[in-house]
Amino acid sequence: MEMKADDYDTRDILRPLVFRLHENVPAIVREVLLERGWTEFDKKEQDDADWNLYWRNSPFRMTDHHSIKPWQRLNHYPEAVRITRKDYLARHLKRMKGAYGSALYEFSPVAFIMPNDYVKFIAEYSKERKSVGRRPSYWICKPVDLSRGRGILIFQDVKDLVYDCTVVVQKYISNPLLISGYKLDLRLYVCVTSFYPLTIYTYEEGLVRFATEKFDLGSLDNVYAHLTNTSINKYGASYKKYKDGIGCGCKWTFSKFRSYLRIFGVDDMLLWQKINNIVILTLLAVAPLPVASNCFELFGFDILIDDKFKPWLLEVNYNPALCLDCSIDDTVKRKLLHDIVELLNYKQIDTFRQNQVAGTKAGRRRVPWGTDGESATKEAPGLLTCQKVAKCTSASSVQPALQAARGSIRKVVALTKKTTRACPIKTRTSQLRERMNMPKIPSQAKAEAKNKQIPGAGHSPHKSAQLSRWLPARDFCNYELTIRPYFLSDKDQRPISRVGDFVLIFPFNEAALQASRDGIDVKSIIKEINKLVSKQLPSKQQKTKKRVGYLTSV
Ligand code: ADP
Repeated sequence: MEMKADDYDTRDILRPLVFRLHENVPAIVREVLLERGWTEFDKKEQDDADWNLYWRNSPFRMTDHHSIKPWQRLNHYPEAVRITRKDYLARHLKRMKGAYGSALYEFSPVAFIMPNDYVKFIAEYSKERKSVGRRPSYWICKPVDLSRGRGILIFQDVKDLVYDCTVVVQKYISNPLLISGYKLDLRLYVCVTSFYPLTIYTYEEGLVRFATEKFDLGSLDNVYAHLTNTSINKYGASYKKYKDGIGCGCKWTFSKFRSYLRIFGVDDMLLWQKINNIVILTLLAVAPLPVASNCFELFGFDILIDDKFKPWLLEVNYNPALCLDCSIDDTVKRKLLHDIVELLNYKQIDTFRQNQVAGTKAGRRRVPWGTDGESATKEAPGLLTCQKVAKCTSASSVQPALQAARGSIRKVVALTKKTTRACPIKTRTSQLRERMNMPKIPSQAKAEAKNKQIPGAGHSPHKSAQLSRWLPARDFCNYELTIRPYFLSDKDQRPISRVGDFVLIFPFNEAALQASRDGIDVKSIIKEINKLVSKQLPSKQQKTKKRVGYLTSV
């Protein structure tokens, strides 16, 4: 039986979005996506490209990036490991300290990469030892590519330093903020939705992770007193016990922690501003990463706060743990994942799908634009789209589509069906999704751009150079139908400032936006951050300092 045009569209449009998980992805990712009505990719049932989100614990192959389709998202950028490996991070931050001054970059403890920096480390160590009246530092030695507290050693005397792989030896923060005598650190979730232009969100909720035995510099080998990793503390004898001032387990939410700080008159806003600065400055140290489209990265920043309320960056985690050890994990991580999906703005795709249906019913159907499924990577989104259109306009294959656009719905549907038959590998869903991400046909875009008064709109759509003026460029203009519209609001063509508990922290003002539009002008951005930092009220800082002693003695 012949299918009617509207049936065809509605059926496809109602099809749920599809996620694809690589092995060992935490169960909660699947749960959340199923909760949202997504379906899981099934190799046997679906076309290779018929998915919308691919989640892996390890980096994608470059071929995955190169063959990405406009309707797809990957959960990693290529080379994100540049900041998540401890030695790379140390190197980048050291370089930034050299280039922009240690005042701004003094948030990371002094670090040496062993064995390469052994001589430098010994020089620093000896200098400290010789200086009269100065208490010798404590040091922490961490294997560069291990996580979860594995292989960590804390020492004061160099004769206790042993290692058999590349390690980072970092100054140990020996005056941490303590609550009821327990050390803590913060697991801050950071989502980069684009490195080009740089767009950073931090998650307002998060996890405070406690050590489960009281902090004591006299017992450096007690991991339960010095390390705050849950993976370690959950095996400690005190983990399940009720701990005065902390409770059972080893976690608090940020909300609880911030209310706690406020009770003691601590300016938590100021503290969070400083933490956000750390996030921006750290990501600036590795930006730009190689240009890749349709990716996002969830980082876990580990922040330790000292007893002067200075936040320190300990490390940046790739694939922050999404396992559920306790109910607090469940609350925070489930909402986090929901908010990530919101941040990726698949809703916009849904709205677009609905518009497609509405358009079809009203006889204003948009036309598939090159349904041969072009790759969406290799170039920045804007460039890619321009090239794609330039190619499409010259290709004879697009002519039938353009003609059909001017014709009746029946013709368009016939064309769509023909394409479907002509390319049996592609499912209807993938074609539909592809269409949803296609740039508008020139006349349509021209008219709409004119309505919206987008600069550069209204030019002849027939020349590729002019097309680039109205098609998405690498900036915040005219993002409505770019292949990566998910972090931008339609209204003001700026990154959305808040999505769920995600708060936009970069770009933080117009100057920062301008400096990151076309490549990254790190110098100008640093200048802006310096201005921000100098605006932070010294009187407030003083107030915080005075109260710290009280808080830590609780
Ligand atoms: P891993 O990747 O193995 O978790 P981290 O760098 O996160 O390594 O360190 C593990 C834990 O050790 C941290 O959560 C923190 O409690 C403690 N730690 C790490 N570095 C320092 C430091 N420089 N000063 C104080 N404590 C630290």
